[in-house]
Amino acid sequence: MCGIVGYTGPREAYPIVITGLKRLEYRGYDSTGVALLNGGLKVYKKKGRVADLEENILGKNLHCNIAIGHTRWATHGEPSDRNAHPHTSASGKLAMIHNGIIENYAQIKKELLNKGYSFTSDTDTEVLLNFIEDIRKNNDCNLEEAVRVALKRITGAYCILLIDEDDPETIIAARKGSPLVIGVGKGEHFLGSDASPMLEYTKEVVYVNDYELAIVRPNELILKNLGNEKITPFITKLDMELAAIEKGGYDHFMLKEIFEQPSTIHDCLRGRLDAAAGTITMSGVMNNIEHFKNASRIIIVACGTSWHAGLLAEYVIEELCRIPVEVEYASEFRYRNPIVNKGDIIIAISQSGETADTLVAIERAKENGAIIFGIVNVVGSSIARISDGGAYTHAGPEIGVASTKAFTGQLAVIMMMALKIAKEKGTITDDRYNKLLMELDAVPEKVDALLKSADLIKIIAEKYKGAGDALFLGRGYNFPIALEGALKLKEISYIHAEGYPAAEMKHGPIALVDENLPVVFVATKDSYHEKIVSNMQEIKARKGKIIAIITEGDDVIPGLADDVFYVPTADEIIAPLLSTIPLQLLSYYVGIAKGVDVDKPRNLAKSVTVE
Ligand code: GLU
Repeated sequence: MCGIVGYTGPREAYPIVITGLKRLEYRGYDSTGVALLNGGLKVYKKKGRVADLEENILGKNLHCNIAIGHTRWATHGEPSDRNAHPHTSASGKLAMIHNGIIENYAQIKKELLNKGYSFTSDTDTEVLLNFIEDIRKNNDCNLEEAVRVALKRITGAYCILLIDEDDPETIIAARKGSPLVIGVGKGEHFLGSDASPMLEYTKEVVYVNDYELAIVRPNELILKNLGNEKITPFITKLDMELAAIEKGGYDHFMLKEIFEQPSTIHDCLRGRLDAAAGTITMSGVMNNIEHFKNASRIIIVACGTSWHAGLLAEYVIEELCRIPVEVEYASEFRYRNPIVNKGDIIIAISQSGETADTLVAIERAKENGAIIFGIVNVVGSSIARISDGGAYTHAGPEIGVASTKAFTGQLAVIMMMALKIAKEKGTITDDRYNKLLMELDAVPEKVDALLKSADLIKIIAEKYKGAGDALFLGRGYNFPIALEGALKLKEISYIHAEGYPAAEMKHGPIALVDENLPVVFVATKDSYHEKIVSNMQEIKARKGKIIAIITEGDDVIPGLADDVFYVPTADEIIAPLLSTIPLQLLSYYVGIAKGVDVDKPRNLAKSVTVE
């Protein structure tokens, strides 16, 4: 995680860096810092948010044309002023920011301590910085060379930016495993963990690859590999506007993103689904269609919310395509020596496309000959680039730390993919296929309709905001949605919540039920409806409070539940795209009622680029 920004050029650098950091705060917000060169190296850093630092350094001379900035998500050392980045080298000449983890930092630190170095922070970053400085001193080489030598010695993940007091135009940057985008302007360059800090200045960007090092000056961008060979920078045109990363009148990004879903789901379907013609156009699927048709199994790797999308994918792909699917937590998969054979299909799901565990998991699988299919939101991200095929979710930038619109984008992609493969494979009847296409096509309108009743969820949220625990239950296609509902509530309101298959609840969680426990049932009309009504009776018999997400026209559950929220009718495969939305709203409104900073809940960060 962590957000990184840099600028070198004729403009005032500090405002560019500080505004960029605010846009990257979703990536971490434990502490903030900037380093700039104006007649010498100045470093300002502080525990807390970007706004805290900004306020703290008001009145200082911040004029400069080169600066780097960092917003941290701590891995090594508590969030504090002294652990905040940028770190300064022992000589006081170099400043560095870092996103990632240097895994062998302890060994290097020992070597440096033996040489007489001392450290002012607990971070792995400061160790790498002094290691670089030590190499430069002993080898009498330039900074670029010293960085290269150091990076060959270290293991772990990094994106680093370095400035040197004695070279006041140059930023040295390098990456492995953590993202880095360089914006190319006229006589200026911008650097960022994503493109948001540079949007108003340039649309031309270079996505730096792993093991690449960049020497960045106002009029020059040199890209090299760690073997010191030059690489021609590949310039990509950004297709993103500033408005997409602003709140647009909403109190929070999370609320904006929830309400954007009619259009983000529409954008995801657009150009792919033609319900009238009965077609789905997905080149990523078609380019690999023989693999999909002949696959003896599919493995899905993901983390967090994306893992829940993966679980739904298992249910949908197995039902429609008759291909066995396994869903794996990427962090487990990458370390447990899984059986991956040549030709196996691995689907990686990640909003950012940078999730460290997912990225490494698919790299390993690729080495074994697997075919990688990526479902990601961020165009040009690492997972998108190493995949053999894939589909973007087209949800636009997601800034709120708790994923909402990216999740529904993932679900929409999964449903289209499954339908496309099923059609090609002949495992779905024409009638069912055409019906599901129509149903999917109608989702944006239905989401729009249900969002009009968002205030009803606010009332429910007020009623239950004092709960200490909550249970989320669902069956079939709604089980992954129950898991996602529980995760959302935990993230945004700090209420302990568990998601469970509704029937499995009898094997343990039912012991928690009493008159104080809210139990959220995701119980839209499907083939399990009568079964879930029985589960509801079991909760009611033990005095649990029932909140139910149900289908319009349901006349059974309102008689049983304490509170209900209606969603429009939909086929059971499509319904999760609707039933998940009231749960997003529930967590949002409970979080707000409890005074939580819902866009930046404690301890979390978006885009988990550390393992
Ligand atoms: N490992 C570094 C630290 O703990 C960087 C963490 C980050 O990516 O923010 O400070």
